[in-house]
Amino acid sequence: MNDLQGKIKEKIQAATRILVTSHIRPDGDAIGSSLALALALIDAGKQVQVVLSDGIPASFKHLPGSELVRTKAEGDFDLIICVDCSDLKRVGKALNGYRSPDIVIDHHLTNGSFGTLNLIDPAAVATASVLIRHMQSWDLPITAPVGANLITGLVTDTLGFRTSNTTPEALRQAADILELGVDMSTLYFRSLVRHTFQAVKYWGVGLSSLQRTDGIIWATLTVADRKASGYTGNDDADLISIVSSIDEADIAIMFVEQSKNRTKVSWRGLKPEIDVSRVACQFDGGGHKAAAGAELSGSLAEIQETVLAATRASLQFTE
Ligand code: AMP
Ligand code: MN
Ligand code: MN
Repeated sequence: MNDLQGKIKEKIQAATRILVTSHIRPDGDAIGSSLALALALIDAGKQVQVVLSDGIPASFKHLPGSELVRTKAEGDFDLIICVDCSDLKRVGKALNGYRSPDIVIDHHLTNGSFGTLNLIDPAAVATASVLIRHMQSWDLPITAPVGANLITGLVTDTLGFRTSNTTPEALRQAADILELGVDMSTLYFRSLVRHTFQAVKYWGVGLSSLQRTDGIIWATLTVADRKASGYTGNDDADLISIVSSIDEADIAIMFVEQSKNRTKVSWRGLKPEIDVSRVACQFDGGGHKAAAGAELSGSLAEIQETVLAATRASLQFTE
């Protein structure tokens, strides 16, 4: 066990009250990693609060421990752990009134090491994969409920083990979890395949906005589109996955209006040589080589113009 591992283990062993948090608009890895860690810490006799600024979407309420998620922390903690989050502002309001995390566990290329101890592996397919690697050595056994959460992180961040960063290690980790009796098929179906009627109506509106220029494909979803379709989330309902499947594009972009003055932008690099985290960083966002995001201020039209110009310019520097 190296020095960092040893220090993490010591901090966990010494703590009684632990806060676990992750990023805003939480995805399967944010939720799966938070709940897996929380359940294992509870098994080890700790008191744990899981605080997610945006709560847990209905589509992940089937996960064991989902009832632990709250939007505000209460009381004092002797350990704060943040998982799957690249910087403090992405924690949202979860740590308002509290110190920065004592431990950060993550796999974002753009992670700024904002914890006291930082365990970050950009080559890992998911934060869940980093946890699976180390939990046993921290005396946190992976039980079936813990495994169900971890496999959800692996499955969602790799889009069902099909992203180009999928490793033999990730597949072996999933196989080990299957051996615990975890029903991966159902967890896969619920987190990646199944969508609500409203979400698919919302896709329809977004798809009708599809445009293409210079190897870039993009679609837009406005607040009005969300109202019209009855979709209650503030994200793209994963429409980016459909837009990213279009042949012959280099980059796919999704613009999701949050309010008159704010828009969430998601980029997906569709070829191995493209690194979209760089263009996202120009707008104070971040992410991975193949998937990155940022939230920008200004009107939707202005943001689209600026983002498309910067993305086009970024392609010119790609070999
Ligand atoms: P998304 O486009 O929201 O699905 O995110 C793609 C990847 O970029 C994920 O790994 C996110 O965690 C990351 N990401 C998205 N938005 C931001 C942001 N504003 N700042 C840093 N990382 C982000
Ligand atoms: Mn995430
Ligand atoms: Mn992740």
